[in-house]
Order: sequence, then structure tokens, then C-alpha cells
Amino acid sequence: MKGKIIIISAPSGCGKSTIIREIMDRGNVDLKFSVSATNRPPREGETNGVNYHFITTEEFQAAIENDEFVEFEEVYPGRFYGTLKSEILQRAERGEIVVLDIDVKGGVRVKQMFGDEALSIYILPPSVEELRRRLEGRATDSAEAIDQRVSKAEYELGFAPAYDCRVVNDSLDKAVDETERLIIDFTSGNPES
Ligand code: ADP
Ligand code: 5GP
Repeated sequence: MKGKIIIISAPSGCGKSTIIREIMDRGNVDLKFSVSATNRPPREGETNGVNYHFITTEEFQAAIENDEFVEFEEVYPGRFYGTLKSEILQRAERGEIVVLDIDVKGGVRVKQMFGDEALSIYILPPSVEELRRRLEGRATDSAEAIDQRVSKAEYELGFAPAYDCRVVNDSLDKAVDETERLIIDFTSGNPES
């Protein structure tokens, strides 16, 4: 494979999307975002085909049957998310750097599949209390969904040691710098990474 896969995982609210967006906006490294499919409804400000391919549960089921996914997970009860082969395989073969924002189980699975062709990065929150504050501040989820995401975070943090590297998202600028550096070192073949 000529290109590389960058896996970014973290519990919801740790800042994955913000960090990925910021690195893409800086433009120091040319990343292609892998747009996942999900049956969750779009949040305000999200665009179909940009943030996710928003599909119905029936369409998700059909995509599973047609073998369209590299991996998929029921991340929350009844809420499915999947990485589409069409988003990553040809691009990586063409030599592009494809970035995946993906849950911890999916991230571990994709790393196993792609081995040294993939770099897995785990974004950690400064604390679980701060994570809750950020989810509340983002104001995109109901109180019930926030409780669900925070209690799941405690379990998900147990996967951090399985990743190639970990970045604490305390100061956003520092976390972006650190994540960008890891990606540049990995994709330029720097043995320090
Ligand atoms: P994720 O994609 O991991 O679910 P988001 O990128 O949506 O998380 O971030 C969750 C919320 O936290 C957003 O409102 C974002 O603006 C905010 N946020 C992200 N990083 C930081 C940070 N370092 N300090 C304070 N707030 C942050
Ligand atoms: P959200 O609903 O906050 O956008 O995402 C919830 C969780 O689903 C996040 O941890 C996100 O990384 C994960 N996720 C997004 N796309 C995929 C995917 O294609 N596969 C898997 N396994 N998880 C995903």
C-alpha cells in the first residue's frame, strides 16, 4: 500500500473531531477524512456526505450484507457506525493519507488489519469531569445521551494502552501540535515515531 491510515480514537467529547479539523485546516499534511456511515440522526451543523453518510437502519443492514464495510460497530444501543471500504481502500492504494475518526473497538480492529501501514492515536481527556463539561458545553446531545457517553468513556479509556500513541487534549493547541507531529513523523518515515 502506497498510502497510510491514521486512526484517531477517544471517548466521545474528548476532542477528536476538533483536532482532526484543525490539522486539516492548517494544511501542513494532506489528510483525506474517511466519511463513515451511521444510522444516527445528523446534529445541527452536520452535512450528509461530509461528517457522515447518514443512512437508515435498513440501508446500514444492506451495506453489511453487501460487504461494504471494513468494520462496523454498534457504538451505542441501536446506533451503528461503519468504515466503508470505498472511503479508504482505493485512496490508500493511490498513496493518500486517510484519517479515521472511529470508536475504540473499531480502532483496534483496523490497526490489526493494517499493521505498520496504520498509526493509531488515542486522544485522552484531562479528566472524566472535564469530559462531561465539554459534552455539556457542546450542547449537541440530550442529558441522557451525555450520561451514556460519560459512563461508556470510563470503559473506553481502558483501551488507551492498545494504541500506538496517546495525546492528552488539555490545551487544544498543544494537542493539535502533538497529533500533527505524530502524523508527519509517521508518514515521512521518521523512525522516532
Ligand atoms: P469528539 O469528536 O471527540 O466527540 P469534539 O471535537 O466534538 O469531540 O469536542 C467536544 C467539545 O469539546 C466541543 O465543544 C469542543 O469545542 C470542545 N473542546 C475540544 N477540545 C477542547 C479543549 N482542549 N479544551 C476545551 N474544550 C475543548
Ligand atoms: P458521534 O455520534 O459522537 O459522531 O460518534 C460516536 C462514536 O462513534 C465516536 O467514538 C466515533 O469515533 C465513532 N465512530 C464514528 N465513525 C465510526 C466508524 O466508522 N466505525 C466505528 N467503529 N466507530 C465510529
